[in-house]
Amino acid sequence: MPMDLADLLRRHPRGAHDLLQALREVQQSEGCVPEAAIEALAAHTGQTLAAVRSVVSFYHFLSLQPRGRYTVYLSDSPTDRLLGSEAVLQRLCECLGVREGRMRADGRVSVHRTSCTGLCDQGPAGLVGGRPLTCLSVERAEAIADHIERGVSVNDWPAEWFDVHNPVRRRDQTLDTPVPAGQAVQAALAAGPEGLIQMLRDAGLRGRGGAGFATWQKWQACRQAPGPRVITCNADEGEPGTFKDRYLLMDWADEVIEGMTVAGLMVGAAEGWLYLRGEYEFIAPHLRAVIARREAAGLLGTDVAGSGQPFTLHLHLGAGAYVCGEETALIESVEGKRGIPRTRPPFPVDRGVHDRPTVNNNVETFLQVAQIAVHGAGWFRQRGTDTSAGTRLLSVSGDVAWPGIYEAPWGTRIDEVLTWAGACDVQAVLVGGPSGHLIPADHHHRLLSYEDLPTGGAFTVFDRRRDLVDIARQYTHFFASESCGFCTPCRVGCGQLVDVADRLATGHASERDLLQLRELGGLMQRYSHCGLGQTAFHPLLDVVTHFGDRVAERLVPEARAFDLEAATVRLQRAHP
Ligand code: SF4
Repeated sequence: MPMDLADLLRRHPRGAHDLLQALREVQQSEGCVPEAAIEALAAHTGQTLAAVRSVVSFYHFLSLQPRGRYTVYLSDSPTDRLLGSEAVLQRLCECLGVREGRMRADGRVSVHRTSCTGLCDQGPAGLVGGRPLTCLSVERAEAIADHIERGVSVNDWPAEWFDVHNPVRRRDQTLDTPVPAGQAVQAALAAGPEGLIQMLRDAGLRGRGGAGFATWQKWQACRQAPGPRVITCNADEGEPGTFKDRYLLMDWADEVIEGMTVAGLMVGAAEGWLYLRGEYEFIAPHLRAVIARREAAGLLGTDVAGSGQPFTLHLHLGAGAYVCGEETALIESVEGKRGIPRTRPPFPVDRGVHDRPTVNNNVETFLQVAQIAVHGAGWFRQRGTDTSAGTRLLSVSGDVAWPGIYEAPWGTRIDEVLTWAGACDVQAVLVGGPSGHLIPADHHHRLLSYEDLPTGGAFTVFDRRRDLVDIARQYTHFFASESCGFCTPCRVGCGQLVDVADRLATGHASERDLLQLRELGGLMQRYSHCGLGQTAFHPLLDVVTHFGDRVAERLVPEARAFDLEAATVRLQRAHP
């Protein structure tokens, strides 16, 4: 039955700011966003038809063209491929008689690739009807096809197909310290804004999202900007290889929301948004329940914990766009728009959501804020180094015996983590995901820390069986497909990087490609608008720098005259 659009509009009264959430509902109900819905939403939000269509076309999980009544997304990150995702995809398409990315003629099913779904520790993974599919195999693909052909509702598929485990392999200070509901709020109210912000400063807490900006500084700046103010939580961990926030949102949601509430009370923000990546839609019911419980307990709402201060929390779902992990893109998306990063300055602490001063921190940061409020700066500083205080949650996946979540004090060596995870014959570790760095075996003494190797938490291991050149090529394609296209250095640069990556992978590289890689990387780093473009060349450049022999050994006969090693030396001299 077609969707009741009048009812949809009634349930989304905030106009343009609710647009993305309304579009998600339409997509789920109709398998696409039909023209009638675009017209209704354009009239409702006061936007042009083109503006609404452009939002639809921006997000991977929205579509102007019909998708199947069963729409299956298969995660296409390199770790899923290592675990056999290509065979799963092929078998599923074969059994269903469908071409990848196309809806079957009868409209029943479509199968798509999507970027990492945040389940690299239990891949090959996928999504169907907003629910996670884990530990896929060829046999399970056949069973899924059978259920689809028989028209079995996704709700009636075997529950174990959707099991999401959160294997915590190592706990340290953070994961050993739950915060009873309300304790951090009470502690923060007792300390007062100045006291609490000073506590964060003494603790040396830096944002766990990757950039490592001092949390106290962000809060102070926002507090000093004229209100009203806003808090956002970045739960959009889209970096391939990252999944630790999934665990925190499932098992530590109270503490994360408590940290957000503390932020609201301390900077004087009455409203907050928890931005949940679309791939984690399956966690949304749990988060809504936690929010409702905390409202009932007086820990959210018009008078938080009897303080007289309000703090209301909204849950906002993304719709599949890696770039929305960038804080200004996230803010655009919270406002219901395309997630195109904003020009900075002004920074979000001055002008963020709806132009209000905004503190944006990530999930892990808010959890640690709650813990610091209760246990103090000294407790936090017991772990880590002077510059990198506390601990870091790592999402360990790839070629390890025990993939999962590891808590490591900052300052831990890479090889220590490899030993914990049971990794053997390691060729390289990708620290921080593809926007981080590929670290070869002879550098595994390096330290996870802001002073040596900062990381947003992804720790992906590749043993000697793996083709690193091809893996770098896959990551380069990932960046190209996730680039929002707003700025030329990234839009054009990613396309050129893809060409170089393909030539390197097929053995058709030349000295000119190396030169282009270095020059292009420098340009993209300097002139790209956001972190995506600034780091998209990392996988390729790292592979050429550390694994030049792997590039050289695959050169086709006509390219063999090209001496990669000599060319690399020449280029390093010319472009140190
Ligand atoms: Fe968009 Fe890339 Fe520019 Fe970032 S760097 S704004 S992703 S085009």
